[in-house]
Amino acid sequence: MGPIVKKILAGLFLLLIVGSSVLVAIQRQRTIGLEEDPSKFHEALYYSKLYGGLVQCKLCPNLCILAPGEYGICKARKNINGKLYSLVYGKIAAAHLDPIEKKPFFHVLPGAQAFSIATTGCNIQCLFCQNWEISQAFPFDVPTRSASPKQVVQEALASGARAIAFTYSEPVISYEYVLDIAKLAKQAGLKTLMVSNGYIEQKPLKRLLKYIDAFKVDFKGFDEKFYTRLTAGHLQPVLETMKTIHQSGVWLEIVTLLVTGQNDSDRQIRGLADWIKTNLGDDVPLHFSRFYPQYKLLNVPPTPPETVIRARDIAMQEGLKYVYTGNIDYPPGEITFCPESGEKVIVRRGMFTIYNGLVNGACSDGEKIPGIWD
Ligand code: SF4
Repeated sequence: MGPIVKKILAGLFLLLIVGSSVLVAIQRQRTIGLEEDPSKFHEALYYSKLYGGLVQCKLCPNLCILAPGEYGICKARKNINGKLYSLVYGKIAAAHLDPIEKKPFFHVLPGAQAFSIATTGCNIQCLFCQNWEISQAFPFDVPTRSASPKQVVQEALASGARAIAFTYSEPVISYEYVLDIAKLAKQAGLKTLMVSNGYIEQKPLKRLLKYIDAFKVDFKGFDEKFYTRLTAGHLQPVLETMKTIHQSGVWLEIVTLLVTGQNDSDRQIRGLADWIKTNLGDDVPLHFSRFYPQYKLLNVPPTPPETVIRARDIAMQEGLKYVYTGNIDYPPGEITFCPESGEKVIVRRGMFTIYNGLVNGACSDGEKIPGIWD
């Protein structure tokens, strides 16, 4: 290589270093500078003040320790002058009217609509996230609109929805907002639904459960290695969350997205079904859903439909009574059968209930089907 070429390469390298430093500085200025007026934000509920202006968030198992100016892993909380603030309180990044079956809740008010809202942010980072545009964003990275808890409840009532669902991104990290909305929603006669990864500390969870009717846990896989490698979270706290929800009497449904070759082995499926039966009982609905390549997991092929059907078969062999399939064309996986008589009690197609044969929460033989019914 000649000396001129070397000089050109060295110059380009220098330019690259300087350029990236400037970009980092701009980004840092942006993330620290824009959010520093604490009067614009809502103080967080669960945190401790440490020494030297440090704070420790105690909302989720990440237990972030943050110096002044720093953000939590969730990108939704920030230490401003030695206090922890929620940056997403009152800032809606998505709002839609969805069939309740889309959440999916299969044992809650079949055919009802749920007013579904999300802020930005998430406390784990699934490589296969289906909503990464908002879940992995800062609140100032995407368009948001302001809405007080009262306005959200009014909008939900005006839409004709029978429930408010906290969904799309991770509602745990907008805890204070969710709590305030849920309290008002209950007073207004609306059901409240959490669609969550279940990654939350026990104390805030127990407080929230008093105002939640149904909780859907996105359970990532019955395998700690899967959690750490593909989600940056941990298995045990989610198992604890599911036990606490069940013990509280709040309705629980569990969904697992089967990612090809990652969390879909017979051992993992059997382990999950066995754990549910032992710890929660055999009538907690379990949904298996098909993965499509998303976000950072574009090199993994979609889950074969046979894998999803096999998972359902295994979970039913293990003794679970209500096991469903999603994202595949498999009608039996969308039907609620009476476990005693085999009668088709609720039939769904796509995201819609097309037949509901429940009478007073029971099949025609009088066998009770658990859930939240009319
Ligand atoms: S909620 Fe956010 S800031 Fe708090 S511990 Fe979890 S990731 Fe960290």
